[in-house]
Amino acid sequence: MADPTRESAFDLLTAVLERHRTLEDALDALPAQDARDRAAAHRLAAAVLRRMGTLDAVLEPFLRKEPPEPVRNVLRIGAAGLLLLETPSHAAVATAVALTKRRGLAPFAGLVNAVLRKVATVGAAALGDLDAARLDTPAWLWTSWGTLARSIAIAHQHEAPLDVTLKPDGAVPEGGLLLPTGSVRFPAGTRVSDIPGFEAGDLWVQDAAAALPARLLAPRPNERIADLCAAPGGKTAQLAAAGASVTALERDAARIERLTVNLKRWGLHADVINADATEWTPPALFDAILLDAPCSATGTIRRHPDVARLKRPRDVQTVTQAQDKLLESAASMLRPGGRLVYAVCSLQPEEGAPRVAAAAGFGLRHDPFSPEELAAIPEARTPEGFLRTHPGLWADKGGMDGFFAARLIKG
Ligand code: SAM
Repeated sequence: MADPTRESAFDLLTAVLERHRTLEDALDALPAQDARDRAAAHRLAAAVLRRMGTLDAVLEPFLRKEPPEPVRNVLRIGAAGLLLLETPSHAAVATAVALTKRRGLAPFAGLVNAVLRKVATVGAAALGDLDAARLDTPAWLWTSWGTLARSIAIAHQHEAPLDVTLKPDGAVPEGGLLLPTGSVRFPAGTRVSDIPGFEAGDLWVQDAAAALPARLLAPRPNERIADLCAAPGGKTAQLAAAGASVTALERDAARIERLTVNLKRWGLHADVINADATEWTPPALFDAILLDAPCSATGTIRRHPDVARLKRPRDVQTVTQAQDKLLESAASMLRPGGRLVYAVCSLQPEEGAPRVAAAAGFGLRHDPFSPEELAAIPEARTPEGFLRTHPGLWADKGGMDGFFAARLIKG
């Protein structure tokens, strides 16, 4: 009989590694199935993607020649079960052999059986001397993260906790840990629908680092604020909840839908506009702008381990051009003296300080964040007065996503 978890995990890995789809898109494309099977498949595929370098290193001594990619994916799934997810040996091996046969790879069933039995025999000792953090990080990313690389890569080994943002004056839900920056943290694996207040719209999912850019914009009641890249809306919600008059722009029609539904659930209002921020002209200039720009998203690898496998250095170059174009447009929408917070969920240096330098050419002057503004998280303030978070920060509390943010003032 087919094992739905491994069947779907195999489809997810094939979609990401061979067809270069995101894990989220691949999940959406799975046929309808039991929610628990789907969640288990997601967890298994994510574990393989997160620890792929390590799993390949464990398999290496048992492979005399390179197996076809689908067979390697079956082996990765089997090895992840054995070494990372505590699947009983006989179940991990038998389901992998069955999967091999069901996927038209029967000639490799003997190989899969033999290799996984050897991995099962060695057990967790197979992981012993490996430099997992290094193995599980593509070389170009490791190099680009400089001295932070090891602490970032160590944090990537684990699933991220679940962070939520509460509406102003909301009570901390049971089981949540109030973080110094105001976000509330739940253990990894918590289902958001189980958190009291979620259905009622009293809170929304938002990583502790992702909650910082809107706070640093310091929205005031009735200020006219634009959120130029708004969906799914976590930052729009923060601005609206602070009483600002918010215009939320989003280019993607499907994501606009999500933004609208989310705002309704949270009982918050923003003028939602489906437009490209590089082409749209506002009826009047804004007091402040949040530009949460499209980016390489390498700051979210803990939550989306497929990002590490899908992105290439050229993608970083492409997004920096889009970021500059958005900064130039944003500058034209801001009143003189108005402020803009530029943010990206990226760990790539090119998407940070050089964009602030480029923004000077559009009449936007860097205004450093003061130590007081970042008093709740002083380790995230760079000497230049930028915000730089990364997964290795607050390691004892479960880390945080990688974000860069800077404040710019229209001259
Ligand atoms: N700020 C959002 C939040 O906190 O929930 C996340 C934004 S996400 C990083 C970037 C968003 O910008 C995507 O939804 C993308 O579709 C949108 N986007 C990208 N380029 C855009 C453009 N030129 N104009 C408007 N929206 C754009």
